[in-house]
Amino acid sequence: MTTARAQMPGDARMTTAAELAERLRKESRVLAVSHEGPDGDALGCLSAFLLICGKLGVEASAYIPGEAPFPPEYLFLARVDSILRGAFPAVEPGTAIYYFDCASVLRCDHQGSADDLTWINVDHHPDNPCFGEFNLIDPAAPSSTAILYDVCGAGGYVVDRDTATALYVGLVTDTGRFQYSNTTPGAHRMAAELQELGVDVGAVYRQVYESTPLSKLRLLARALCHLEVRLGGALMVSWLDNDDFAQAGADESHAEGIIDTLRCIRGARVAALARERLRDGRVETKVSLRSTDGSVDVAAVAHERGGGGHARAAGFTSDEDVPAVLAWIESQVAASL
Ligand code: AMP
Ligand code: MN
Ligand code: MN
Repeated sequence: MTTARAQMPGDARMTTAAELAERLRKESRVLAVSHEGPDGDALGCLSAFLLICGKLGVEASAYIPGEAPFPPEYLFLARVDSILRGAFPAVEPGTAIYYFDCASVLRCDHQGSADDLTWINVDHHPDNPCFGEFNLIDPAAPSSTAILYDVCGAGGYVVDRDTATALYVGLVTDTGRFQYSNTTPGAHRMAAELQELGVDVGAVYRQVYESTPLSKLRLLARALCHLEVRLGGALMVSWLDNDDFAQAGADESHAEGIIDTLRCIRGARVAALARERLRDGRVETKVSLRSTDGSVDVAAVAHERGGGGHARAAGFTSDEDVPAVLAWIESQVAASL
């Protein structure tokens, strides 16, 4: 069902922030969904959306697939503790499902029959296949929270301090603290407006970037021990196996951000981090890819293995073991340099 729908954009329709704001105001029941292994943008969207729905009087719940804990740096966001986990929740007929930051509906574990449900797809990934009936996709948006902020503006919604903080967390993390190439003048303007709405920028910084659990630093140390310089320094790779997680006292959520340390090494053009994780009793390899200078389109590499993302930040999962996956990445990068 899901696959057929995802490959069938014929019935899909693009929508505008204003149309979506009108639609949301009239909803009676909604479910907000974001991608597995959530980042600050995924959790920022769901936190803000739940708060917005609360203000509009729309009955709302939220869901993220998987069982692994959320990255600890985002647990301070409002309503994150109410997000449902595990199997896709049962939804009553007439519920509208709002997907946020989901490049692929397959990453969102949708299992249900879609016939009596409306799917709304809000995202900034350029490879989003427009799997919703209504699609608000803006590849130029620095984060999915930026698109949700546009919806707030178009609908004249009141954005309170907690909502502004959640929107800001998506913005600050997806732009690499306003340093990545997706940092538009609009991103800075949005940050300024959110600050005027009450975001405590210093407090967010402390929560997101300076509240690192010791186990996460220990995991980073292990990833740095495994660092391999390949292709004459153009490709930096590392890996984490189940034993690394156990020895560090870490879970998979602690791997978020480790790839950034590999990417920042002088001379690196591509960075790759492969890590083992358990899914349904099987070990699989989850890969993060980053391009520093855009010379390699890492989304294209990830697509080859059923993944996706942006040209400079992408990922995929594989049934192959870590050495095989890293060897394949090396051959792909070598071919595109
Ligand atoms: P990550 O390396 O997990 O931080 O992901 C980097 C980017 O790639 C994000 O924009 C993700 O949405 C995207 N991405 C990661 N894994 C996948 C996947 N299996 N399928 C599609 N997109 C992915
Ligand atoms: Mn994301
Ligand atoms: Mn995003």
